[in-house]
Amino acid sequence: MKHIFLNLLNIFKKLNNKIPTPQNKQDAQNTNYSLKNVSEMEKLTYEAQERSQHYYSLHKDKLKRLDPKKVDLSNFKERHLTSTELYFLKYLDGVNVNDPNIAGYWTHEYNINYADVLKQYLGQGLLVVSDEKDLHNFKVAELKQILSEKGLPKTGRKEELINRIHDNFTPDELTKYIKSNEQYYKLTAKGKEMVKNLRPSATKNIELEDKCYSLILDGKFNEAYMEIAKYESQKPIPRGLGVDWGNISKNGLSKNELINCIDHMNLEQDLPLSLKKYQKHINACVILGIMLGISYDKILKLFLRICDVECDKQLIYEAIVMNCIYYIGKRDIYSYLENGVEKYKFITSLDENTCEKCAKLDGKIFDVRKAKFGVNYPPICKTCRCTTVPYYDDFDDCDEVEIPK
Ligand SMILES: [Zn+2]
Repeated sequence: MKHIFLNLLNIFKKLNNKIPTPQNKQDAQNTNYSLKNVSEMEKLTYEAQERSQHYYSLHKDKLKRLDPKKVDLSNFKERHLTSTELYFLKYLDGVNVNDPNIAGYWTHEYNINYADVLKQYLGQGLLVVSDEKDLHNFKVAELKQILSEKGLPKTGRKEELINRIHDNFTPDELTKYIKSNEQYYKLTAKGKEMVKNLRPSATKNIELEDKCYSLILDGKFNEAYMEIAKYESQKPIPRGLGVDWGNISKNGLSKNELINCIDHMNLEQDLPLSLKKYQKHINACVILGIMLGISYDKILKLFLRICDVECDKQLIYEAIVMNCIYYIGKRDIYSYLENGVEKYKFITSLDENTCEKCAKLDGKIFDVRKAKFGVNYPPICKTCRCTTVPYYDDFDDCDEVEIPK
């Protein structure tokens, strides 16, 4: 276990080397950073902070290009907006123009070209700059304050409060509340129309999701993964530590992963009746979700957007989690076989939620070739959180993680 951890440290260091040095690094090196007795963990923490500082200033820098004063609409050429850009348009509604509080992921994950999209939004008449604050951008407490000035009820959800204000205040009366010294981005009717049908998306890149989803349904797993790798390699901060996406975009999946994908499309789970006919779609969404490296919640979003199913969300969520466990479990078995691992050890997370069946299996050793889902290989129960690790007869105990000094 120790050598795996050390490997991870090396990857961290390699990754870090690619990042330009912020000015304050020198100061830090002169002080405690270079002391030999500082543990690796402290160094890592320091480096992580430094990295996030660096990314933050990159983001702040790029945001300076989001400025309506700098937009020149002479020679404006309209172009098609991507789904990511439409999600950003929706996000901009109500944002303060002079002090835009924009989340870093728009820079680092979605690579938004702020100057260019703003020009498109304004040029296409989707967005205007307004000195009126939209009621949606008020805090609930502020809305209640407005209601109380006319002695109106202050109960209900935010949307209800807003409607009550609109019903009881004339536009003139409202001006005094929404007029502001500040400026805000505001969607026009055309802009609202454009984003009206945008559904919650796992990656905010519907083109990529849809393309890869249909490739997966067609059995073209490699092509799908190469598309995703191409997308990752173009991101300012690609996903994963030290993953060579450029290389993957040329070579695609490993043989094992490919076999697992093909196999997984034929998976038949124990599904509730209302979901039975969606088995293939769930399988495909899980393969896509795992290729995209997204959470269970986001795979659910992916599935709901693509399949538009009328079924209890919790049931779909559970089906997706179980489906992922099958996928990862099979992948582990393939990798055990490929690496000559003959046996595995069953690991149960023991707490008050662990079922009896899972608890009994904890620590037991099994033959990889005799692994059986639900019997001696997870998932055992409906809420199974068990896992397995390779087991070698000649190893004494390899469970402990040692933190290197
Ligand atoms: Zn379990």
